[in-house]
Order: sequence, then structure tokens, then C-alpha cells
Amino acid sequence: MEVPKNASWSFKYLLKIRPEVAPIFVGQVQEVSTRYIWDKLRSPAPKVPWHHLVWFSGRIPKHSIIVWMAILNRLPTRVRLLRTGLAIETDKCLLCCEEAETKDHIFFEWQFAKELWGSILELFCISREPCSWEGELAWASLLFKGKSFIVGILKLAWSRHIYGIWKEMNADCLGIEQGRRKKS
Ligand SMILES: [Zn+2]
Repeated sequence: MEVPKNASWSFKYLLKIRPEVAPIFVGQVQEVSTRYIWDKLRSPAPKVPWHHLVWFSGRIPKHSIIVWMAILNRLPTRVRLLRTGLAIETDKCLLCCEEAETKDHIFFEWQFAKELWGSILELFCISREPCSWEGELAWASLLFKGKSFIVGILKLAWSRHIYGIWKEMNADCLGIEQGRRKKS
């Protein structure tokens, strides 16, 4: 079938995967469900140990997305932006101007973030000195398990902490940019 030149990317994609998808429906129409199609299309892989910290019942989607991006190291920190070739002045953290702006630094190594996370945990009577991104992720993955109310609140607090720091960084970034525009 010839693809119309002005077809949308989604329509072109549907045509592209048609040979792959068509056999799923042949002769088994009564069994087809969203789960069935998903299982047929995806490559099965074991669950990552942190999945319940991102995708949990009662999550706030915008928080979960930021947590997910942070875990996959996909947030556009200055270090990552420089690596992609973007012309920015420095890789120094926008919030403290001392260390390189990595996800490790901004969420748990920067003193303010470290103390903030420590204070949040104290509200749950957890005394803990946050150490590093990997350390906190491994610790939270192990501890924040189950469906109890307190675990649900801890997961909300964890994702809110990460989202809040990231939002603050972006607010500062926006403020600096607006300041520059006013001067120029
Ligand atoms: Zn910093």
C-alpha cells in the first residue's frame, strides 16, 4: 500500500507495524484485549527493583514522570546538556554554584536537599543520613515495599521531594533567564 505523502506520523507508524500486528488478530478475535496485545508486542524483561517507587497506586503522574526520568538519568541537568553539545556557560549547579549539576548532586548530595530529605524522613521517625542518589534509591527500593498506608505516604514523599527539587531548579533557571532579558 502506498503511503500518502501528507499522512501523519502516527498513521505512517500504524502502516509500518501492520505486518507485525496483523497475526495477533487472526483467528483469535474473542481473546484480544489490551493486555494480550501489549504482551504480544513487547519484549519481556524482568521488573526493575525500583518500579514500585515510580508506578504505585495513588501516585501523582507529574511527580512519577520526573522520578522515572531521574532514575533513568534523562533529566536535562547542566552536565547532560553540555554532553549533548548545548552551548551553556558552565556545568556548575544552578542552586549552589559549587558542584557539577548532576542528578546525584541536586537530589541528595547538595546540602539543602540532603537536609530536606533527612527532615522528611524524620517526620516518619526514620533517622537516616542521606548519602547518594544510588544509595537512597537502593534503600527506598528495599524499604518502601508493600501496600500499607505508611508505605504509600513514604512513596508520595519520595516522589514529591524529587519533583520539588527539580521544580525549584527550573523556577530559578526561569528567573535567571527573565532577569537577563530585562537587562538586555
Ligand atoms: Zn548544587
